[in-house]
Amino acid sequence: MPALPHSENATWDAVVVGASFGGLAFASGAAARGLRVLVLERDPVVGGVVRTTGVLFSDVLDLLDVPQRYLMNSVRRMEIRAPEHPSISVGSEVWRFYMADVTGMLQWMADAARDHGATVRCGAIFADAAREADGRMRVSYTTTVDGAAAVQSEYARIVIGADGAHSQVARRTGLDQNTRFLAGAEWLVEGVSLSRETFYLVMDHELAPGYCVWLAPHGEMAALGVAGHSRAFKPGETLQLAQSLFAHVTDLSQMRLAQRKGGVIPIGGRLKRVYRDDAQARALLLGDAAGLCGAATGGGIYPALLSGRLAAHAVANEIGGGTKGAIRTYLKDLPHAGRLGHYLQIEDWIRKLMDRASSNADLSAFYGIFDTEEGNRVLKRALFETPIVSMDSSFFGLIRTLFANRPGLYGTALKMAWQRVTARGA
Ligand SMILES: Cc1cc2nc3c(=O)[nH]c(=O)nc-3n(C[C@H](O)[C@H](O)[C@H](O)COP(=O)(O)OP(=O)(O)OC[C@H]3O[C@@H](n4cnc5c(N)ncnc54)[C@H](O)[C@@H]3O)c2cc1C
Repeated sequence: MPALPHSENATWDAVVVGASFGGLAFASGAAARGLRVLVLERDPVVGGVVRTTGVLFSDVLDLLDVPQRYLMNSVRRMEIRAPEHPSISVGSEVWRFYMADVTGMLQWMADAARDHGATVRCGAIFADAAREADGRMRVSYTTTVDGAAAVQSEYARIVIGADGAHSQVARRTGLDQNTRFLAGAEWLVEGVSLSRETFYLVMDHELAPGYCVWLAPHGEMAALGVAGHSRAFKPGETLQLAQSLFAHVTDLSQMRLAQRKGGVIPIGGRLKRVYRDDAQARALLLGDAAGLCGAATGGGIYPALLSGRLAAHAVANEIGGGTKGAIRTYLKDLPHAGRLGHYLQIEDWIRKLMDRASSNADLSAFYGIFDTEEGNRVLKRALFETPIVSMDSSFFGLIRTLFANRPGLYGTALKMAWQRVTARGA
């Protein structure tokens, strides 16, 4: 369906801020249901600035038929190393996750949104949104015209904030904002010989406090990345040390830097107030902007796609179809969709455990749990065998047993927190 003609001051059904996983999933779904959708993206082209590693778990493929050409590497082995331990290796016969060509995938999603009738406007930086007396949202943004910044406005029935962890839509419309973050940085490097199927992780409290350093295949290149608590480390300095960190894997002395990426990961959990429809604003947050990101692994592509896709149904029903309350019902049901709530709860809990590690000795104790036969089984199941949608009570049971055998390791308070999570999950 071609884009509907749009005159000045006409009203879009939805203005979406952010042309990434959440925003484009929303735009495609909403436009396919007949809504007039405008997407504003600050980058000059969709996918032009990549801020993610692009690990796609196979759950993503349940939501979106990502063409094979964007699934660059199929990973079926993971090697994890912590201080004072030999590497733990977990593998599988089946592909469980992929390294995606993020630029290609986002451009493909943008094309799909346009095919459904959405308009995607790049180089458009969202500035503000407020409700007018007639009920419409006035959305202001800046573009560059003839080298000079120009402020423009559009009118919409709702504004969708899919603008990432530091959402300006959340800020300007008074919705909840993320407050806790990991900082991440990644280099794409050439000239490195690496297994095409293995993802390598190094845990080190000094070099990556609260997360890890990784080396992974990325098409014909390699991705060398790190994430950790913001302000507690310097990502660039850690990456400089990668040569010695991964000396047991490959020789990085000849690597050539092809691209740098960086970004933040929200780890404070799902935000509560992500929608409002009152005198001040009508706005809804999705994906990272809504805190929908795994707090431990930083996996946020699946939640962004899922929230975008389901929100599109809800907004189309409420705004296009006149079904009152459809958006609030979507918000109530979201944790049950694709077992997103379970996934986020488990990630929150693992984050609490990870944050208890305040030294390499703590990390080593934590890591030791998985360096056993039963620990290895749990890791294998979590990483390669149990899609998010299948995390059930038997999986929780395995983890519970693993930790119950080591009383005192993380204290009573954490055990109680875990019991609460698993009781809800069972
Ligand atoms: C280093 C790093 C590695 C990661 N690796 C993985 C991984 O391997 N797998 C995984 O699942 N998750 C990963 N994540 C998390 C994942 O990238 C995010 O959870 C996911 O991208 C969230 O999608 P989103 O659509 O909500 O927001 P984003 O992908 O953050 O997109 C927000 C969009 O909004 C645009 N925008 C922002 N502000 C404005 C504005 N004012 N005006 C207009 N446009 C604006 C941005 O340019 C961007 O296009 C990683 C994150 C980082 C930082």
